[in-house]
Amino acid sequence: MKSQKGILIMINKSYKKEFKNIKEEIDKAKNILFLTHRAPDGDAIGSVLALNLYLKKQKKNTYIYILGAPRFLNFLPYFEEIKTKSPKHQDFDLIFSLDYAGEERLEKPFHFFLDKRKIISIDHHPEGKIIGKIKLILPFVSSTSEILYYLLDSIKAKIDKNIATCLLAGILTDTGGFSFASQNSERVVGKLLKEGAELSKIMERYNSFSLSRARILAKMISRIKRDEDFEMLWSWLSFDDFKREKERSFLQEPPIFPDFLSRIDKAKVYLFMIEYKNGRVKGSLRSRQGVDVSKIAQGLGGGGHKSASGFKTTGTIKEVLEKVKRELKKELK
Ligand code: 5GP
Ligand code: MN
Repeated sequence: MKSQKGILIMINKSYKKEFKNIKEEIDKAKNILFLTHRAPDGDAIGSVLALNLYLKKQKKNTYIYILGAPRFLNFLPYFEEIKTKSPKHQDFDLIFSLDYAGEERLEKPFHFFLDKRKIISIDHHPEGKIIGKIKLILPFVSSTSEILYYLLDSIKAKIDKNIATCLLAGILTDTGGFSFASQNSERVVGKLLKEGAELSKIMERYNSFSLSRARILAKMISRIKRDEDFEMLWSWLSFDDFKREKERSFLQEPPIFPDFLSRIDKAKVYLFMIEYKNGRVKGSLRSRQGVDVSKIAQGLGGGGHKSASGFKTTGTIKEVLEKVKRELKKELK
């Protein structure tokens, strides 16, 4: 097996040209816009804020356009600079689009002409339509935040305590609280901690939630079922469960449901579903023991990674469960 140091050198070598091109584009630019995916998670926010910190130090003007950034991440540096208003003018020299997996998931400013020639996309999602003049896609990496570590390291940017904290929050999110981090991600985590990344602050935020959230979690737990055929644990919640507890936006708190479910027993697959009012269901899949759940999610029009993926589809909980089983049958045969 390649040594971990070897892998770092390998990444640096293989993507040297992209890293260099990105640095050149940064040097040329003055006004820079940040975009990421809809319903942003910790990796989206962490990677954007980390790169924002670096660019501010380079005296760039930045504009971060993100809708619905989760409040529990508001301790991250410059979180308050995130704007929900479309930028007034179009004259950005450069647009960083991070972690969005596919053009249709990219949250674009309203009435904004998105000039693809100005876009640099950085992502770790394996499939999907990525746009821009530079595409830095490393599907074998845990998170976009981890890719940013390689980029910043390669262009000799100083990774200070604040940048390290943002990147660590991103890696934590996309590895289910470090539980499916690769050895390489662990190595990066070590480096970030060495730079002073505020691990306990991050953990404190991820591990705290409201009483209403706890009650909803109890509901989710009470509905857990085990499917023996597929060695799957599954559960669900409905829009009404959130409404009953007066939770208006489930994205504002740490994403506990699928990750909590996947800590129970040793199932091959974990499925968590949320049923919305309009007959739509959002599914989250997690796996252990090597089942590639991204294939299942793709079969249902979604995507993601081997151990964590998701999809949106239509139907009742029962119907969606059957759809998932059909995909599982194909994958596990
Ligand atoms: P979660 O289940 O936590 O919402 O998502 C886990 C991972 O699956 C995310 O990091 C994301 O990469 C992917 N994912 C979730 N929902 C979708 C979706 O609707 N489409 C695609 N392409 N990927 C998704
Ligand atoms: Mn990500």
